[in-house]
Amino acid sequence: DWLTDAPARAVCAMLTDAGHQAFFVGGCVRNTLLGESVSDLDIATDARPERVIALARAAGLKAVPTGVDHGTVTVVAGGRPFEVTTFRKDVETDGRRAVVAFADTPEEDARRRDFTMNALYAAPDGTLVDPIGGLPDLRARRLRFIGDPGARIREDYLRILRFFRFHAWYGGDALDAEGLAACAELAEGIRELSRERIGHEMRRLLAAPDPAPSVAAMEAAGVLMRVLPGSSSGRLAVMVHLEGEAGATPVWLRRLAALGGPDPAEALRLSKSEARGLAILTEAQGADTGPGELGYRLGAEAARDVLLLRSALMVTPWDEEAARTARHGAGQSFPLRAADLADRHSGPALGRALKEAEARWIASGFTLGKEALLR
Ligand code: ATP
Ligand code: MG
Repeated sequence: DWLTDAPARAVCAMLTDAGHQAFFVGGCVRNTLLGESVSDLDIATDARPERVIALARAAGLKAVPTGVDHGTVTVVAGGRPFEVTTFRKDVETDGRRAVVAFADTPEEDARRRDFTMNALYAAPDGTLVDPIGGLPDLRARRLRFIGDPGARIREDYLRILRFFRFHAWYGGDALDAEGLAACAELAEGIRELSRERIGHEMRRLLAAPDPAPSVAAMEAAGVLMRVLPGSSSGRLAVMVHLEGEAGATPVWLRRLAALGGPDPAEALRLSKSEARGLAILTEAQGADTGPGELGYRLGAEAARDVLLLRSALMVTPWDEEAARTARHGAGQSFPLRAADLADRHSGPALGRALKEAEARWIASGFTLGKEALLR
């Protein structure tokens, strides 16, 4: 579909009409060949970033230099962003990120990419360009590093996490033995990475349809303990097995909660709202709050997430009855107001009395009415 998508074609045409090369590359080509959905269209070109900006503006398109040092210009066409990135090659590295220089051909550009299945190019007419031999690997669902895995990991240790992320999404049953061995050997290098970059990869890994086998391999390779100290992959498979589509918390966050560990929010630099979501899940999971009260306090969806987490962690077994009770609780509103008790209490005592009445009301399964509570 995207090969015939008018805005995508316009961005390519603006480059090719000026005598440049333009190829779709990376995730969109890989996912299309797999029959999976495509999230964004990345375009690779020999045109330098300033040239891309000039051509886009001449074509009346908005162009934003979103990553000039990486050669990326975001071109907006048809109201959608397209990342146009100049061909690059690796020149040197500090391990935190590969250092790159511009290049002129897809062959050079392919070599600095991470995995063979991520180095597939499609010309605007649909012709596949496969400089590395990624297509046979993709067909076999073989996630393989381009070049020597150890050398590629030393250029950018994030590739360790990307190995497990892409395996979870697109790999076969077994992980590539050579790649896995290199990840295990170089796991200590994770410490070079910023927590933002680690967090980004971990979110995407945990959002895979079933990340449990990859995360278990990550743990066995000594990688998980460096990313989330004190966590354990043991409960993740149960969580994945139990979880339905529903829930208030994003699926990766529920799975992160199932991994445990003392401070995942800090380790992965979660946003305030993500950290709050995680804290609610983990706190409510530890306390012995009943399902009705969970529903009443958190809402039905978040309460369901807590119940799932409790059963994944084997605190309590999963049961639909509890989820129903939570839904029932979510529909309740406490019948007393402060004004109802104002003739008997005042100040902090009023607040305490109100809380006490609420606790009694919750314990009654929300059956006590206003009159009974006042009595
Ligand atoms: P997704 O659909 O999950 O976004 P993607 O393949 O587009 O998958 P991105 O992380 O968006 O993954 O990266 C885009 C492409 O850039 C990759 O396919 C890969 O070719 C290249 N790439 C990204 N990060 C790295 C890296 N750290 N080292 C080498 N190549 C990379
Ligand atoms: Mg992408």
